[in-house]
Amino acid sequence: MLKGQMMDRPLLVSSLIDYAAEVHATSPIVTATVEGTIHRQTYAETRARVVRLANALLRLGVKPGDRIATMAWNTHRHFELYFAISGIGAVCHTINPRLFPEQMTYIVNHAQDTMLFLDTTFVPLVEKLKSSFTPIRTYVALTDRAHMPAGEPIRGLLCYEELLADGAPDIVWPDLDENTACALCYTSGTTGDPKGALYSHRSNLLHTFFVLAAAQGSFMPTRPILPVVPMFHANAWGLPFLVTLTGAPFVMPGPKLDGVSLFDLMDKEKVWGGWGVPTVWLGLLDEMKKRGRKPESLSRILTGGSAIARATLATYERDYGIDIVHGWGMTEMSPVGTVTQMTPEERTLPFEEQMDIKSRQGRRMYGVEMKIVDAEGNRLPHDGASQGELYVRGAAVISGYYGNEAATRAAFDKDGWFGTGDVATITPDGWLVLVDRTKDLVKSGGEWISSIDVENVAIGCPGVANAAVIAVPHPKWTERPLLVVVKAPGADPSKEQILAHVAAKLAKWQVPDDVVFVDSLPLTATGKISKKDLRIAFAEHRLSAQ
Ligand code: ADP
Repeated sequence: MLKGQMMDRPLLVSSLIDYAAEVHATSPIVTATVEGTIHRQTYAETRARVVRLANALLRLGVKPGDRIATMAWNTHRHFELYFAISGIGAVCHTINPRLFPEQMTYIVNHAQDTMLFLDTTFVPLVEKLKSSFTPIRTYVALTDRAHMPAGEPIRGLLCYEELLADGAPDIVWPDLDENTACALCYTSGTTGDPKGALYSHRSNLLHTFFVLAAAQGSFMPTRPILPVVPMFHANAWGLPFLVTLTGAPFVMPGPKLDGVSLFDLMDKEKVWGGWGVPTVWLGLLDEMKKRGRKPESLSRILTGGSAIARATLATYERDYGIDIVHGWGMTEMSPVGTVTQMTPEERTLPFEEQMDIKSRQGRRMYGVEMKIVDAEGNRLPHDGASQGELYVRGAAVISGYYGNEAATRAAFDKDGWFGTGDVATITPDGWLVLVDRTKDLVKSGGEWISSIDVENVAIGCPGVANAAVIAVPHPKWTERPLLVVVKAPGADPSKEQILAHVAAKLAKWQVPDDVVFVDSLPLTATGKISKKDLRIAFAEHRLSAQ
């Protein structure tokens, strides 16, 4: 082999914040803080604080490879932790505070976290759980002295701003191997126990470049951008790293993620782009309808994490002129896999056809390979019709679960591809169409019914605010679909009206056998509709034997 003669400089997360501080020095990071104020600091100021924090961590004895946990909202302080912890070779372990307490206990102990940085919101929760957080030696509240919790709910609780003030102002970042671990994130366990994805500096930087390439200026602007997707959910889909390269003003929403709060913050800070799961966009849409307008500058939304209903995306586009980009990914993929990437020709198609295309999960970004396979693992053609389990491969895809050999064995095929647990088709021109999670498919007789397809139609029915389809046992067909509906405020659609609407758009065998009405749908820790909880709630629901 003739080796290339180029410098072997490592791809490191610390280089991102250094770059932002130099090239985007005056661009702001704006936070709606837990304390209730709006806080502003520039990227240059952010780096200065990151350095002080890194030095403070070193003084507290943090060693390379240590897992340092966070339980925090999207704020400038959480952003600083991302860079300071990884900068010194430790691992930033973001814990999802919406997990069940026993799941949090499990992951803290599994990860062997030694420190926990927490927003004051979570002090009561951690106070209850701390006796089970065995490896954690140091707790730090993400606030200033004036807002520290009264009394001493957690013994020895340190104050973040005091730590920073004591940290030295200069650092020479260690020249780490780029394959060093930098971040750890557990899946929310939507379909099982939490499993850890351990990212490396290299994978995070490559993921950043891959997303930028796929964005091609369409959804990764230099204009203000707001991550509704939490920094404890798969690195906020990589956005904290991306903005260091583009210098986009970064607007952090803190703890308030309801439609009203998001609308006001987006309006005030002239937010151009928002990233989040469909549930969030339904909430914002409600607020937009009430006010009869959109947040003034909002122009792009990246939606992902679960399928967005076609009706929701069409309303955003047609009524408000907001361009929706639809993405699919997984915690295990850093997390982005595919995003809407339309050709210039596709952009000139009639509106309804464009919406059909945008309902698809997108085209793979560079750096992600995809294949669909049958039950025996044979590859299926990318013909837009063959359905199979989706497998992926790439430099920002996990090669195993952290400290979990059994889960690793179950997730990879003999060629090292990662099984997503999703069933999909892929069109000849590379569009991914997600049929369903394997576990959510309704197996009716010999046919599979996609819950996503049925929900899409049901949500388009007048008077329906939200809908979910689950499988319930059936005496003749094994499983049949049950439609769970939330009515729109003031509307009262009947079961018959909804079923007639669905029957007009789907094949007879896909039409749900029954409709039940609920006030709201249960959500998972990552804000998606929890099919698992719905299945439990309606386990006793009896369908007629027809
Ligand atoms: P969790 O299981 O904790 O919710 P992830 O966010 O990693 O964690 O979930 C990934 C899964 O979410 C995917 O395997 C897929 O089933 C689902 N998903 C992600 N994006 C989409 C999308 N655009 N459309 C449909 N499903 C999606």
